[in-house]
Amino acid sequence: MPSVIYKGKAHPYRENQIPTLSDAESKRQFVKVRCTPCKITRYFRPLDIERLLQENLHVLNLQRKFRCDRCGSKDHMVVEFRTLVAAEMVGLVVRELVDVKTVRRPVWRDRKM
Ligand SMILES: [Zn+2]
Repeated sequence: MPSVIYKGKAHPYRENQIPTLSDAESKRQFVKVRCTPCKITRYFRPLDIERLLQENLHVLNLQRKFRCDRCGSKDHMVVEFRTLVAAEMVGLVVRELVDVKTVRRPVWRDRKM
């Protein structure tokens, strides 16, 4: 299980050995995301996450990219790439990316004349 306290960059040689989203996709793995206190686990497809983030991040850099649906925190999310055997796939719910919407939000400032 990857460390959730990975904060910086490892040596480039080591950094290149950490599996990325593309690596996971080519191995037909899933991105497993779990909020430890809420005990909620979600499975995603690596390509969906790569499409959303527009980066091929490695697994340790994904740790703080997810937010829990229940508690809203990013602090206790554990992200790992998992290879599932056929028995685990039965009834598995995978969260698929349907669309990415851009929200237009006005930004105002008061200016003294
Ligand atoms: Zn939570």
